[in-house]
Formats: sequence, structure tokens, C-alpha cells
Amino acid sequence: MDKPEKIRALGLISGGLDSTLAARLLIEQGIEIRGVYFSTGFCISDPSRPGRNGGDETGNLCHEALQVGNDLKFAVQVVDVSDEYLGIITNPRWGYGKNANPCVDCRIMMLRKAKEMMEDLGANFVFTGEVLGQRPMTQHRPTLRQLEKQSGLDGFLLRPLSAKLIPETEVERRGWVNRDKLKGFTGRSRKPQIALAGEMGLTKYPQPAGGCCFLTDPAYGNKFFDFLKYRNSDSPVTLEDFLILKVGRHLRLDDKLKIVVGRNESENDLLEQFRPKRWALTAVDVEGPLALLDNSIEVEELPKAARVVARYSDGRNRSSVDIKCEKNGTTEVLSVKPMSPEESSKYILT
Ligand code: SF4
Repeated sequence: MDKPEKIRALGLISGGLDSTLAARLLIEQGIEIRGVYFSTGFCISDPSRPGRNGGDETGNLCHEALQVGNDLKFAVQVVDVSDEYLGIITNPRWGYGKNANPCVDCRIMMLRKAKEMMEDLGANFVFTGEVLGQRPMTQHRPTLRQLEKQSGLDGFLLRPLSAKLIPETEVERRGWVNRDKLKGFTGRSRKPQIALAGEMGLTKYPQPAGGCCFLTDPAYGNKFFDFLKYRNSDSPVTLEDFLILKVGRHLRLDDKLKIVVGRNESENDLLEQFRPKRWALTAVDVEGPLALLDNSIEVEELPKAARVVARYSDGRNRSSVDIKCEKNGTTEVLSVKPMSPEESSKYILT
């Protein structure tokens, strides 16, 4: 088969070191690169994490993936896949990893989308910064192969950092990429990548964060599975249902009643965003947290939740604290005995 005049590749660019090095190895072979970053809504680098060079406050221009494109002079497109992703995290065909991370399904979705984009762009193949054996769920040899097949990219998915350790792809066989100039990195050690970055003169890159999204966090996973267990299956899940799990102290009081309590001022401020359509509980005449309850909670359930808010207020040692409960213009003030630390600790989801 004739070699195309110009070889073009689309890369999954996270903004981390591995995908940066993969892109750079291909650029050095004269390949024209485009990048894509799929934003699931759960990514650690999603939008509020500031970029390394400052950047603006919109979260967009300072995104690390965009920064890599800017540094290496290629375009990176940020694609929002958060709606579709909700279906994956609630019902992953390939199951969860150690926590709430459905990594195999997640990678397959991203690679399938990358394949579509590759075809639309007239690119010749897709590449990633994956390293054989680096991540437990998705970067073992059989899984790397499975990802190729399930994504429809069989033969056209290149992993430049580990290429020498995995079977030759069509991309290499056809001479589009020189396999000899690719790498054979393996395992969890970052030393080879750091050494290569040094050789390439790359000095600006984020430190590895131990996972690309917060679904890998064990504490988040507990709250996530609690939500799935007790949620009302008649109402569709929303991204907000999962984002609120990142904020505050969560206490499961019974099958229907869960309360989210701000642990400090900034968490109280964050919880304000989730206040519409929920019960909001605050102490009346002492300092205390903002706490939120699910909208469907009956008024009879409020006293138990109010005792939790009293327990975390400055009135925790009083015999009674007034707690204001508000929802959609309805206000109730309840005088309650603060819950004891021993009792509240039984309900905390950690
Ligand atoms: S860690 Fe998160 S973003 Fe990364 S592959 Fe797993 S589920 Fe997807």
C-alpha cells in the first residue's frame, strides 16, 4: 500500500507526561499531530485546576491538555462526553476497578470516539500515552489488545511509549512510523519517562496524580456506591448527583435519609450551588455548617437530620439548638438536641 504523502495522527492527550512524550516521539518523526481531550466531568484536570503557566480563570485556556498542544504546537480539542459517561459509570459492561472507576469501558468509549474523529479528520491512526503494566485495570497486555479490538482501531492504535514490547501495528508495518524510534517502557516506575523528558528538554509537566479521575479515590467510591444503592431508580441520574459526592461530610441516617454537611467555609460555599431543589439546614443563632438533604425527604424526617447539623455547630454542647430547614420557600425551625459524636460517627460514609 502506498504511503500517504503526509501521515496524520490523532492523540488522546491528557496533559500528563506520558501523552506529551508520545506526541513528541511522533512529532520527531515528522508526523502531523492533532490532540483530543475527553472531558467526563470526573477528570482531576477538569476545568478548575489551573494550568502550569498561570492562564485565565475560565478553566479552558489553562487546561493542561491545551497547554501541551500549545507547547508542542498542535491543536487540542476538548470534547465534553459527560452525558454519555453517566451511562457508563452507572452500568459498566466490563465492571469497576478497585473503586468506582469503570476504566475499561471508559477507555473503550474514548477510543471509539477517537476513531470517529480520526476518520472525520482524515487522520491515519490514533495514539495514546499508555504504558504497558503501568495501570492495573487497563494497561496489561491482554487489556491493551482488548481495547484495540473493542474500539474498532485494531492495527491503527499506536502506543509509542511501549510499542517495542507489544505486537507490531499496521501503522508500523506500513512504514508510517519507524518502530525503531519508539520506546519499550513498562511498569509503574516513572524514571524512564522522566529521563526521556530530560533528553527532550521538556521541563514543564504536571506530576503524576495517581489516576486520571476521582472515581479512583476510595473515599469517593464509598459515597458513589452508597448513592447507587439507595437512589430512586425512577429518576434519571445527573452529573450533579455525582459532583455533590465530592463535597462535605456524608452521613447515611437510614435508607431514605442522607445528609451532606459542609466541613468548612469553602465547602459551605460549594454546597450553596447544590441548594436549589434540596432541603437546606442551618443553625439559627450559632455558627454552623450548611447541610443539604435530598428533595424527596418527608418533613417528619427533618428532626433527625437537624440533630446532625446541631452536632456540627458551635452549639454542640448545648441541650438544644434551633435549626432552620428551608426548601422552595417552605421554612421550618426545629429545636433539637445535638447528636452525640458517638452516634453521628456511626452514620458517616468514609
Ligand atoms: S481512571 Fe477514570 S478517566 Fe482514567 S480510565 Fe479510569 S475511569 Fe477513565
